Amino acid sequence: MADEISISKAPLVYPETEAFWAGTEEGKLLLKVCRDCDEVHFYPRPLCPHCFSEKTEWIESAGRGLIYTFTQTDRAPVFRFPAMVALDEGPILMTAIVDCEPTEIEIGKRVTLAFAPTEGKQQLAVFRIA
Ligand SMILES: [Zn+2]
Repeated sequence: MADEISISKAPLVYPETEAFWAGTEEGKLLLKVCRDCDEVHFYPRPLCPHCFSEKTEWIESAGRGLIYTFTQTDRAPVFRFPAMVALDEGPILMTAIVDCEPTEIEIGKRVTLAFAPTEGKQQLAVFRIA
């Protein structure tokens, strides 16, 4: 669990994201894969954004990727380094880099999954420098 941050509000859970948030309670980052075109996508949604198929299934991310882009917000209430991480599975997600110094963070650097608590049972997927 990330230790540098304060608590985020609990997420709003909709039917199409219920399994995703339940996964975070168990420390799993779930993605969706399409069984028609084999593309992996995030955020979770009922139809594949690549081919509009309904044949999508949940898979667990290995939790590894690289920093696609980031910013530093020293006045942010929760995360100092909001970032986009490109997962090895393909999707790029909005997240944050935690437990790092400004001199450590750079685009292209490898990161691994961690989780940050919320006010609810769900956790937020964040990343640490690998
Ligand atoms: Zn598809």
